[in-house]
Amino acid sequence: MIEPKYHPGEEILLDYADGSLAEPAALVVATHLTFCPWCRRQVAELEAIGGALLEDEAPEPLSPECLSAMMARLDQGSCPEPEAARPLRLPSIDLLGVPQPLRSYLDAPLSALDWRPVARGMEEVDLGLGRAPVRARLLRLRAGAVVPRHTHCGLEMNLVLAGGYHDQRGSYRLGDLVVDDDSVDHRPVAERGNGCVCLNVTDAPLQMTGGIRRFITQRLRW
Ligand SMILES: [Zn+2]
Repeated sequence: MIEPKYHPGEEILLDYADGSLAEPAALVVATHLTFCPWCRRQVAELEAIGGALLEDEAPEPLSPECLSAMMARLDQGSCPEPEAARPLRLPSIDLLGVPQPLRSYLDAPLSALDWRPVARGMEEVDLGLGRAPVRARLLRLRAGAVVPRHTHCGLEMNLVLAGGYHDQRGSYRLGDLVVDDDSVDHRPVAERGNGCVCLNVTDAPLQMTGGIRRFITQRLRW
């Protein structure tokens, strides 16, 4: 499998590794990890660093009873059992082709979900995660479909699950995770051959910027 070219930034991976990322964003990152050995290594290293920092914290003073019990064990030459290695977080891909972290949020294969049209050539399944204005959803774009030009009031995370899309900055394929903010003004176009299915999380509504499309699409639910 070709490895993804687009990854979450180090800060997002750090938040993921220490468990502080909100559930919708954590779902996107966990799903990206199923495609991306590079990010899996980063997360494993960050978790190892976090574990080492915790171990370096000053220990609680031992009670006299505990101390003498420990000394007795040392006298007997016994060594404490090594702590079991922490399992690496490596989610698997299930047989239906949906990465396992996402699969646990779905009740059917992608093709059998209740897709709702939201714009020309575009459908969505809302995952019902997070609290408004945060939205987590699957987006399905027909081959060649054009998303109206827009920017972002907050952050958007978009992970390609099938097919691909492109904008003026590049092309995005299976496993690519694109993080956009208000510095990005773009007009994504789905692949002509296959269209595109994405896992999409936004923390604010998109802001349309494309002339007459702005007035047309303002009425769409984004
Ligand atoms: Zn990655």
